[in-house]
Amino acid sequence: MINALRGMKDLIFEDAERYRYVTETAAKIASNYGFEYIETPILEETRLFRRSVGESSDIVGKEMYRFTDKGGNDVCLRPEGTAGVVRAFIQAKLDRQQGQKYRFFYFGPMFRYERPQKGRLRQFHQFGVESFGEKSVAEDFTLIQMLSDIFDALGIRYSVQINSLGCDACRPPYRENLVSHLEGIREELCEDCRRRIESNPIRVLDCKNEHCQELLSEAPRITHNLCDDCDRDFQQLQDLLSNARIPYRVDPNLVRGLDYYTGTAFEFVSDEIGAQSAIAGGGRYDRLVEYLDGRPTPGIGFAIGIERIMELVRIPEKERSGWYLGTMIPEGIDSILKLAHKKRKNGEKVVVEYSPKGLKGHLKGADKVGARYCAVIGEDEWKNGSIWVKDLLRKEEKVIPIQEA
Ligand SMILES: [Zn+2]
Ligand SMILES: [Zn+2]
Repeated sequence: MINALRGMKDLIFEDAERYRYVTETAAKIASNYGFEYIETPILEETRLFRRSVGESSDIVGKEMYRFTDKGGNDVCLRPEGTAGVVRAFIQAKLDRQQGQKYRFFYFGPMFRYERPQKGRLRQFHQFGVESFGEKSVAEDFTLIQMLSDIFDALGIRYSVQINSLGCDACRPPYRENLVSHLEGIREELCEDCRRRIESNPIRVLDCKNEHCQELLSEAPRITHNLCDDCDRDFQQLQDLLSNARIPYRVDPNLVRGLDYYTGTAFEFVSDEIGAQSAIAGGGRYDRLVEYLDGRPTPGIGFAIGIERIMELVRIPEKERSGWYLGTMIPEGIDSILKLAHKKRKNGEKVVVEYSPKGLKGHLKGADKVGARYCAVIGEDEWKNGSIWVKDLLRKEEKVIPIQEA
């Protein structure tokens, strides 16, 4: 027997249903917000992610699903969705349409070569959106509102955490300030944090180590060191959220470590899956398009980890729908196939049982596939050109001419 690879999982029955429900619900809401569907390749050049996700990240450092293809190209399976969409945006020369806004949504599998014993999947799924060309903080608010709408629709409780990461004007002095503070407590910090003081000091702030978190409570906060523009935007974002009655909390330790992240960062967390786990995250990346050789273009996006919310999704009870068609005699098959095709062309759901069997067997079959109507041709019906139909919802049955079925 051949099994799926380690860390890879089939989406089947209930899981498949949930995946489809999540992506369809989110896609519908994103479309209502004016976002358009985009699909980019799963396989990309490795250097796309080295430059966008960053060399110092765990994703690129340890977790890339990377190999050399037959043509000798260094390629990898996408570990996240933003890089590919930004590449596509630049490749389509949309960065040259200054002043235009482009908004996209995507969903699909992502890959990280993690140790499977952590219970993490190597192939997992995300739904995400990316918005290009809009500098206004109203767009940041709108993305957060869209995400709340999506989780509301899925029946998932959440809380929102926000932060501002500043800009090219206010972040460098803040960083210096932070580094000098961290140098003072260097010896007490964990090994990862000590290494990050040089490579990526802002990431020290989101260390998961409890001892580090205690030490960091005195660290200077970016939100106290914002320039006037960034401060005004951050205030406006909070006003917009309050006015829309979206509850939020400012979390100064919510950071994203790379230079192209600017301004708003946000995370949605749920306490339904253990201690305050992130179920979605996003933020501004006003310099990412430049980083990938495009013309400077403001951008912002978010991504939802679908596996993280799968168990929390409340799918509405499915009602009986469509038809189940069967026959009790071999000669009846042609009539039910014709009727099935007519109905399918008409947009109705039809399941056909080809094997002739008794009425009891057919009713069981109709129940199993969740059909509303069970229609069966028996000896008499076949002779008269009629069909027996039972409405399984109303529990009514009758024999009608087959053309009327
Ligand atoms: Zn600033
Ligand atoms: Zn630490």
